[in-house]
Amino acid sequence: LIPIGVLLSVLMVGLVMWSLRRRLSPLGELEIAVRKREFIVHYQPIIELASGNCIGAEALVRWMRPDGSLVLPDLFVPLAEDSGLILAITDQVIDEVIKDLGVLLVNDRSVHVAVNLGADDIRTGRIIDVLQQALARSGVEAAQIWLEATERGFINVLPARLTLGNARALGHAVVIDDFGTGYSSLSHLQSLPLDALKIDKTFIDTIGTDSAISSVTPHIIGMARTLFLKIVAEGVETEEQAEYLRRQKVDYAQGWLYAMPMPAAAFIAFHRQNRSA
Ligand code: C2E
Ligand code: CA
Ligand code: CA
Ligand code: CA
Repeated sequence: LIPIGVLLSVLMVGLVMWSLRRRLSPLGELEIAVRKREFIVHYQPIIELASGNCIGAEALVRWMRPDGSLVLPDLFVPLAEDSGLILAITDQVIDEVIKDLGVLLVNDRSVHVAVNLGADDIRTGRIIDVLQQALARSGVEAAQIWLEATERGFINVLPARLTLGNARALGHAVVIDDFGTGYSSLSHLQSLPLDALKIDKTFIDTIGTDSAISSVTPHIIGMARTLFLKIVAEGVETEEQAEYLRRQKVDYAQGWLYAMPMPAAAFIAFHRQNRSA
């Protein structure tokens, strides 16, 4: 028989360890960050290649720790996706976008912001209500908010078709993100409700090199053409890449060649300098 005192102290130690682990685990920390709304958004300008004008931005989330340091999304979005916290983070991103850029968006209807969706946002379809409320509150038009979904977001094909089809019916543009890194075939793409295709940086990196995958880029562009999709190139770093993309009549580009992701005030200034006359 175990004395009750020993049993109790073992229980106590276990309880303390459990709460410590919980407090210190990455997931516990992320839960607290969600509750404390520690997420901010940086904006990376999107450039129309033919004119060189800035026509909008991609919203990229950052976790601002209480000490003021910024954590990049690659370090917490995967955990947020696996744990379901991504739903609350997407809500905060949409709130921030409207707070940061609502005035600009209402004053200039040609500006748009691309928001990244998690697979759960698409699967549950909850995102539609969240967007509609944000738009009703702010007067921003649905057409000004583009939605980026990775191929992962399309794994559950039926809910994806429903959610993204609804989003398009409301006026949003739907962009398939990181295109080329997954398994989408032409026939699969054809069945999805899409407006644009974003060529992943991996392919942009190979422009002008003799890497084996450099020959894939023209095929991706051709595929987008066949489906009448707009084309966005991400991760454009060199003038040579931009020149190639312009020659291929790619519509839009983003990358360090033009600008890095930046806080809202800096983006508003950038847009003022680089918008169409
Ligand atoms: P992504 O959607 O492919 O976003 C592009 C990433 O490439 C961004 O990294 C951006 O800062 C970076 N980038 C842009 N131009 C260049 C360039 O010229 N060179 C290089 N080397 N990198 C460039 P970031 O901001 O760290 O975001 C990483 C990923 O995290 C994103 O990849 C996206 O998948 C995810 N993410 C970011 N924000 C959100 C969000 O609000 N929600 C969700 N669900 N995912 C997000
Ligand atoms: Ca994206
Ligand atoms: Ca991307
Ligand atoms: Ca990418």
